Amino acid sequence: MSQTTEQLYKSDIGDILENSLNGQRPEPEDCLRLLESDDVHLMGLASGHLTRKHFGKKASFVNNIILNYTNVCITDCKFCAFYRSPGAEDSYTLALEQIESRVKTAWEMFKIRQVLIQGGHNPSLKIEYYEDAFKMIREKFPEVGVHGLSTSEIHMIAKVEKSSTNEILSRLKEAGLQSIPGAGAEILVDSVKDIISPKKISSADWLRIMEEAHNLGLPASATMMYGHVENNNDIVDHFFKIVKLQEKTNGFMAFIPWNFEPNNTLMQKESLVQYGTGGIQLLKMIAISRLVFDGLIPHIQSSWLTNGVGMAQLALQYGADDFGGTLIGEEVVSCTGSRSTELTDKMIIDAIHQIGYHVEERDNFYNPVKLL
Ligand code: SF4
Repeated sequence: MSQTTEQLYKSDIGDILENSLNGQRPEPEDCLRLLESDDVHLMGLASGHLTRKHFGKKASFVNNIILNYTNVCITDCKFCAFYRSPGAEDSYTLALEQIESRVKTAWEMFKIRQVLIQGGHNPSLKIEYYEDAFKMIREKFPEVGVHGLSTSEIHMIAKVEKSSTNEILSRLKEAGLQSIPGAGAEILVDSVKDIISPKKISSADWLRIMEEAHNLGLPASATMMYGHVENNNDIVDHFFKIVKLQEKTNGFMAFIPWNFEPNNTLMQKESLVQYGTGGIQLLKMIAISRLVFDGLIPHIQSSWLTNGVGMAQLALQYGADDFGGTLIGEEVVSCTGSRSTELTDKMIIDAIHQIGYHVEERDNFYNPVKLL
């Protein structure tokens, strides 16, 4: 009996991991048992094995920038340190020329393959603002993918335009939008959302808008922000709502679990959360994500932005296959003071090589650009 098999038999989650290794997805009650277990390293053995079965010893990343085009927001999420109310002295909205200049600089300096576009819910921005930006990027920088606007931003534009989210998505796609980031999901349970982001769209709306996007041929990422007021049952619900939608549409390219950072947020001021959940919980979430989504959502991203490069290296052993993006220009997490560092592509490449893996630079759709 190998050491791993012996450990599996001794562990109270051994049956779940054995089933996973045999291609059987954990059921919701198994997922709950995984969340309640301390056997994180054993989960990592199984999830790492599944990951290497698909990708070998190779990890991908994308050269990208984040364009946080406005910090004006009327949604006041308690977990957010980034937003400013309309009219605030330090509020901003980027003009089209500023967007062009940022993309141009990033293309010339880093040959970026993706612009991740996210901002506040700014009621003074009409749909033409977004259409003009997307058209400009696609026309002037055809190799740069437009990955933009969370479902809640789409919802806000629909409100401003007194239109449907489906119509807004369709117009934005026509203008050059290519895929949708998963932000705004947080935890897809309304009793949690009611505490942390009471003015934001409901879980059902997040899922509905994602389904509309998938049906229009716009693929997406799914995310989960954990480590605040949710409990393990809420996390199970979150995972399986995404499983259910993916079984229907197959529109998610990647899943990204990331931990809530409380610094400078209202949730910290109100003593709802004092500190982040840290590294072991990150590895557990990465491992469970791979076990739950194996064979369904191809890519699991490491979460270097809040946990640093060292944890991202570990995450690649625990079920992640994608390092994420260089995220140059990110301003949202930076407002909590917890952004680990500015990363260049060279730093990511070195970090992946350090663990003995090959590196694949990828584009917005996870297609290889080059092997390094
Ligand atoms: S998370 Fe987004 S929607 Fe919520 S307050 Fe911050 S910018 Fe606004």
